[in-house]
Amino acid sequence: MRHLVVVLGDQLDLHAAAFDGFDAARDAVWMAEVAEESAHVWSSQPRTVMFLAAMRHFALALRAAGRALHYAALDDPATHGSLQAQLHADIERLRPTGLVMTAPGDWRVLQAIKCVAQAQGLPLEIREDRHFYGSVREFAAHARGRKALRMEYFYREMRKRHGVLMHGDEPEGGQWNFDADNREAFGAAGPGAVPPRAVFEPDALTREVIALVEKRFGTHPGRLDGFAWPVTRAQALVALQRFITERLPLFGRYQDAMWPGEPWLYHAHLAAALNLKLLNPREVVDAAVAAYRGGAAPLAGVEGFVRQILGWREYVRGIYWTRMPGYAELNALDAREDLPAWYWTGDTEMACLRDAITQTLQHGYAHHIQRLMVTGLYALMLGVQPQQVHAWYLAVYVDAVEWVELPNTLGMSQYADGGLMGSKPYVATGKYIQRMSPHCQGCRYDPAQRTGEKACPFTTLYWDFLMRHEETLAGNPRMALQVKNVARLDDAQKQAIRERAVAIRNGAVA
Ligand SMILES: Cc1cc2nc3c(=O)[nH]c(=O)nc-3n(C[C@H](O)[C@H](O)[C@H](O)COP(=O)(O)OP(=O)(O)OC[C@H]3O[C@@H](n4cnc5c(N)ncnc54)[C@H](O)[C@@H]3O)c2cc1C
Ligand code: SF4
Repeated sequence: MRHLVVVLGDQLDLHAAAFDGFDAARDAVWMAEVAEESAHVWSSQPRTVMFLAAMRHFALALRAAGRALHYAALDDPATHGSLQAQLHADIERLRPTGLVMTAPGDWRVLQAIKCVAQAQGLPLEIREDRHFYGSVREFAAHARGRKALRMEYFYREMRKRHGVLMHGDEPEGGQWNFDADNREAFGAAGPGAVPPRAVFEPDALTREVIALVEKRFGTHPGRLDGFAWPVTRAQALVALQRFITERLPLFGRYQDAMWPGEPWLYHAHLAAALNLKLLNPREVVDAAVAAYRGGAAPLAGVEGFVRQILGWREYVRGIYWTRMPGYAELNALDAREDLPAWYWTGDTEMACLRDAITQTLQHGYAHHIQRLMVTGLYALMLGVQPQQVHAWYLAVYVDAVEWVELPNTLGMSQYADGGLMGSKPYVATGKYIQRMSPHCQGCRYDPAQRTGEKACPFTTLYWDFLMRHEETLAGNPRMALQVKNVARLDDAQKQAIRERAVAIRNGAVA
């Protein structure tokens, strides 16, 4: 054998760079389902099914394309428990002269594969991942010499470089960013008839995986009734088309809105398909821009959508690969609390958190504002150790892969990088959630109260957070106004806030 082409669970593209020059007579593909990938964080059942079902379908596509495949299945008793052990064993059996792969999305996995190649004395060729607009090298060039790395400037460069939503040298519509138009909440009548989510009933292969995951990882969080994610490229293309025609027209307007019991709203639900490489970001962005050019979707919403993919997605990848491995250890606010146990069950009286966590466990999905301004906000203000928050986000979402999850969690949500990504910590009282959703109407707490039996824990913790970090935050011009309000509190008020915050941390309020 010449090359063993290593394909990971998030590299499911027949046209990936790893296959360039593939010679069916001399090369073979290697894939492995290993228990370690579901255990290094307490990976939820929907997330594990998402990966394994997509891998098994991809294996069929590889064989149909005539590419020899060595596939280690989780339910084969001979399969080893870790990627490293499996790869070692298979190299010894197959004796290739070299390993080839597309750049992995996870620093830990890259180190593991490098170690195996070195121990086996085999050359390892790592090829560019074409599933991104830019390379890590280009991001590093952009980052060089900058103290802070704001997404907005990076995004403008990307728009120009790739000619997306441009009118000559000017941004389409004369403005780079239409965020201000993208913050509406639903009125009292609610979202009305939201188009149904694209549902892909599990076929026999996916049902096999569901049974396997129930058997092997039945104690892991999350539920599998109702698993309906796209697990093949053909399904992902249908999901993309459904999003463009049914949801994109209202995506921007209701991007930040929440509604109890409505997990899907006008979002794309495409992150897992993108991250597993069933879809290419270019085809997703092109389809959205075509909808705008054809008059089917407004510019503000399409720009908002393009910003998520051409901007945020590329930017967090650049942060991850230019800052790892140190980035994963950051804890700028010295947060040390444990993650409350109810993050794994949804068993809390806080209506907003209960809703976001329940749907997360049911579907492996929550939209961005639920992740940032409900589960993330609460953990930040409670003072949870960021690495525990990271382990939760990496475990529970079907789209969770470390390169994208870690900067979003540690940087954007928990401010653990001390302001590299965000100019300030995203902190707010329960009134933000009240503005964006009707959750507070059905909650035993009151977002307007910061102390007392009915005080909303978000509101108490907001003030407690400002008091705890007053000195650090006072030097931040974007926080100055918020910090100033702390000075208006008298000692008795401060004491009452502290006492209530202690009760929340002790679990007496949950
Ligand atoms: C704490 C936290 C953890 C997160 N973890 C993940 C994760 O593990 N995997 C993941 O893909 N996204 C993550 N995100 C980003 C974002 O919340 C999800 O991409 C989005 O909610 C997925 O749902 P959707 O496909 O319906 O996205 P939409 O809201 O419809 O957005 C469209 C697409 O834009 C991309 N996108 C949007 N926001 C971001 C962002 N901030 N960073 C990178 N890409 C973005 C995604 O590919 C997404 O599919 C996280 C955000 C936060 C605040
Ligand atoms: S009152 Fe507070 S805890 Fe309850 S739903 Fe509103 S923000 Fe959430």
